[in-house]
Amino acid sequence: MKGMDHSLVRYVFLDRDGVLNRKMPEGAYVSDWAQFQWLAGADEAIARMNRAGLTVILVTNQRGIALGLYTHAQLEHIHANIQRHLARHGARLDAVYYCPHNHGECHCRKPDIGLFEQAFKQFPQANAQNSVVIGDSLSDIRAGRRLGMKTVFIQGEADRQKAGSAAAAELADAVAGSLLQAVEIHLGLVA
Ligand SMILES: [Mg+2]
Ligand SMILES: [Zn+2]
Repeated sequence: MKGMDHSLVRYVFLDRDGVLNRKMPEGAYVSDWAQFQWLAGADEAIARMNRAGLTVILVTNQRGIALGLYTHAQLEHIHANIQRHLARHGARLDAVYYCPHNHGECHCRKPDIGLFEQAFKQFPQANAQNSVVIGDSLSDIRAGRRLGMKTVFIQGEADRQKAGSAAAAELADAVAGSLLQAVEIHLGLVA
């Protein structure tokens, strides 16, 4: 593992499924708030990043919209509920960007970088040197590497790991078992 120097990190790009909430089985999607199960410590991890003055940005592929499984409004309802939950824990996401498209029809679906480019418009001081990507898919790590950012791979539950997990762990600068562990070990934010 290459490790990382976290002293320069100011912007944290988080994937959603498998990082904040329990991944659904492969091929299934969170289409309703009732299916959104927080992973232990994810809210606390975000609160710590907020308190440290880091900007926390969600970047999530939501192909379920293209598949007709849920609408933009339903997804935004889920994201509003995430923010409400976080607010009760003294935490917040500073921005949320999602890709609603299917494979190969856009420039924003990770591992492409369009979601990050949208963020750079809203946060012009964010750049490859002061940002890190934290995700549980090879596509998250690839997007981060493409941008020249540091990357942390979240090693998910064994039974919900996707193809490419081993490659993602190899490619990433660091690996952690959870978002809270990533924030403690790799961002140095211990309570
Ligand atoms: Mg994910
Ligand atoms: Zn897209």
